[in-house]
Amino acid sequence: MSNRVIRIIFVLSVCCAVLMFTTQYFWIKKAYELEKNIFNTHVTIALKNVADQILRMNENTSLTDSIVSHVNDSYYTVQVNDKIDSTALEYLLKRELLAQQIKTDFEYSVYDCESEKMKYGKYVSYERTYKKPDVKMESFPKKLHGNNYFAVHFPKLDNYLTKEMTNWFWSTLVLIIFLIVLAYAIFIIFRQKRLSEIQKDFVNNMTHEFKTPLATIKLSSEVLKNPNIVQNPERLLNYATIINNETLHLTNQVERVLQMAKSNKEGIKLNIDHVVLKEMLDEITERKYKPLLRSRGGDIKVMMDSDKTEMYVDKLHFKNVISNLLDNAIKYCDRTPMIEIRTQDKPQGVQITIKDNGIGIDKKDLKNIFDKFFRVSTGNVHKVKGFGLGLNYVKLICKLHGGEIKVNSELGIGSEFTIFIPKNHKS
Ligand code: ADP
Repeated sequence: MSNRVIRIIFVLSVCCAVLMFTTQYFWIKKAYELEKNIFNTHVTIALKNVADQILRMNENTSLTDSIVSHVNDSYYTVQVNDKIDSTALEYLLKRELLAQQIKTDFEYSVYDCESEKMKYGKYVSYERTYKKPDVKMESFPKKLHGNNYFAVHFPKLDNYLTKEMTNWFWSTLVLIIFLIVLAYAIFIIFRQKRLSEIQKDFVNNMTHEFKTPLATIKLSSEVLKNPNIVQNPERLLNYATIINNETLHLTNQVERVLQMAKSNKEGIKLNIDHVVLKEMLDEITERKYKPLLRSRGGDIKVMMDSDKTEMYVDKLHFKNVISNLLDNAIKYCDRTPMIEIRTQDKPQGVQITIKDNGIGIDKKDLKNIFDKFFRVSTGNVHKVKGFGLGLNYVKLICKLHGGEIKVNSELGIGSEFTIFIPKNHKS
């Protein structure tokens, strides 16, 4: 799948998700308003019936006297203009509200026009274990007219409406689950895409790495096939050495890849040894890196705060760690390489810093350089050979020693890798 198609799928999915959420939000809001209206209609009918029946009980025939007022969302007053018997009122309210299928707690009170006070109030609950709260008279603001009326307040109206909308919440949940699945699917597509790019890169690098030595071996062996070469033993030795060196190089490369594959499957087992750091660093730098760098006009400096620093590490793997970092410092340098190794013997452990004056690493790539197969992108052609496995291996070995590796880098200036190995690690 091309990058363009993936990007289009991503943008379309985000648009669809936003649209679905907005629509759902809009419908839920509408449904809530509708539920409120239905509730209001049913309550008004019920209260009107209650008032009419009170008047009938009082043998008052002017049924038109009863007026239901919807004061606010949860508060209603019903003007009766006649005597109101509170026991009958409660019974009638329950019956009529249930007849309208409204089963939620309510509190009512009766206004007495003679004392100009709300004279009676009661909380009616449908929850059996519910301890009935005292009725707060503030729930029943007084109406400014001189006639008898009763008031009804629904304290749990919001809960009631929310319950009525359960179906909407289920459908929103289904929508959210669907969107999570969609987001996960897109994430998988991106990850697969990245993996396939890494794989492609790896195969390209591998082919590059093997092509050059194989071509050299092929050329050299063709020269050796010439029967006259026997007359020139020096040339023969030269070509045989080339074949030998290239074969060694190839074997090393294959070993590195196999080692990484193995480290994943079986894990690396460390053979911890006592090491004098100075001796180890001298061994690595004097034999290979100093001659190599000096031949290119560069240099490598080792600055130790103590010659006596001792460590307990796996010699072989730890040497590989230092070599990998030094190889990179040379590989990723486009001028005369100047490398510094600094060590600090701290109470908790040993810190080793390798600083180069190479091409540096972009900030955006820094977080990825320790990932397996990751190589900083340089377009389709990689001038510098590698598999993107070195730093991953370095990090793994540091971790196995209970330590860590950090990097500081600036493009065009250079990089600084700092390893810290604790003194009393349990490996
Ligand atoms: P490889 O060198 O085989 O590509 P590594 O895992 O050693 O793999 O390095 C990963 C990437 O990090 C390299 O491809 C390179 O782009 C970048 N890198 C590593 N070390 C340095 C360095 N010292 N200076 C600049 N870039 C570096």
